[in-house]
Amino acid sequence: MTDKTDAARPLAPATVAARATGRVDPATGAVVPPIHPATTYERAADLSYPRGRVYTRADNPNYDAPEAVLTELEGGAESLVFASGVAAAVTLFQALPQGARVVAPEIMYWGLRKWLIEVGRPAGLGVAFVDMTDQQALAAALDEGADLVWVESPANPLWGITDIAAAARLAHRAGAVLAVDSTAATPILTRPIEHGADIVMHSATKYLNGHSDVLAGTLTVAPGLAGDPLWARVRQLRSMSGNIPGPFEAWLLLRGMRTLALRVERASANALAIAQHFARDPRLDAVLYPGLPDFPGHEIAQRQMTGGFGGMLSIRVAGGRDRAIDVAARLRLFARATSLGGVESLVEHRASVEGKDSPVPDDLLRISVGIEAAADLIADLDQALGKAPAGDAQ
Ligand SMILES: *Cc1c(COP(=O)(O)O)cnc(C)c1O
Repeated sequence: MTDKTDAARPLAPATVAARATGRVDPATGAVVPPIHPATTYERAADLSYPRGRVYTRADNPNYDAPEAVLTELEGGAESLVFASGVAAAVTLFQALPQGARVVAPEIMYWGLRKWLIEVGRPAGLGVAFVDMTDQQALAAALDEGADLVWVESPANPLWGITDIAAAARLAHRAGAVLAVDSTAATPILTRPIEHGADIVMHSATKYLNGHSDVLAGTLTVAPGLAGDPLWARVRQLRSMSGNIPGPFEAWLLLRGMRTLALRVERASANALAIAQHFARDPRLDAVLYPGLPDFPGHEIAQRQMTGGFGGMLSIRVAGGRDRAIDVAARLRLFARATSLGGVESLVEHRASVEGKDSPVPDDLLRISVGIEAAADLIADLDQALGKAPAGDAQ
């Protein structure tokens, strides 16, 4: 019935996730929570709401468990689930005071970069993009002041690593809040709050749910910021804007989260095996993966990430754009699809997706490594790469 065991030692993330609070439904004894589709709740005769629930745009019982589990996994004070990862991030941007300034990475999830440029800026948000892997560049950008520093690590789709502790020190010195898009790392591999972050964001569509069948996002606040008006505003905006997932989506999210540790461990091991196998392959110009010793940022990743370097990697195909697209076409086990963090492996030519303003090289294929057997994935990549085209042979 209780949330935690009495033991003084904290439970391991795998246990926290698998238990999913361990709460048993008080009405039936069911070990899996019921789904609450009700949109509205009854008032008492004195018009009060004795159980604290009013209307589902503010809150839904199916949010309780995923929020509690994520809060515990992240070492935060409170979490909120949203309709999508973008909805979570945008709600935070919109909660900032009028005329606020955000410092964000040049390389980041493109949908949010696009939002900052096409929606945030026209609405009066100051936005500066910097190389977030370069502390001096961040420090220089912060000389002009900032309200929020946005970090993504590893950062889509080149997987550059930001030193979260260093970014937190710089942000805090400038009076800014540090928020981390930790979608690719997951709380299994990185706990940004332990490194000084104030807010952690996830596209729960990805690893947290893990089965490519739920759109959802989350924000988790650190204990130090939980009482801040900014967080109160985030909570208020979620309900006032209706940026909420449906109860069934929240229920599915919890179901997916139970296997988070297993999936992330397997995907990370697979990605490392693939990266190591192809690291010096002449058919590739580069394998971008934080787990490779010669990857810039590898040392920071070793300090900041525990238990693996994640399931995301990119390859740069020797021969350029057309050859990269050709390799993607020949893969049999990797579905050509956007998104990441599911049990199935996916491949995507990002430059085609992101369009002409994209900073992504056009010979790059992004790979979301699933939980299949590594040997099968390696064999498939090997057959798809085939022979290097004539003239490229080394
Ligand atoms: C997918 C993704 C997002 C956006 O999340 P949605 O759930 O698709 O809205 C944000 N950041 C990263 C790193 C992502 O991969």
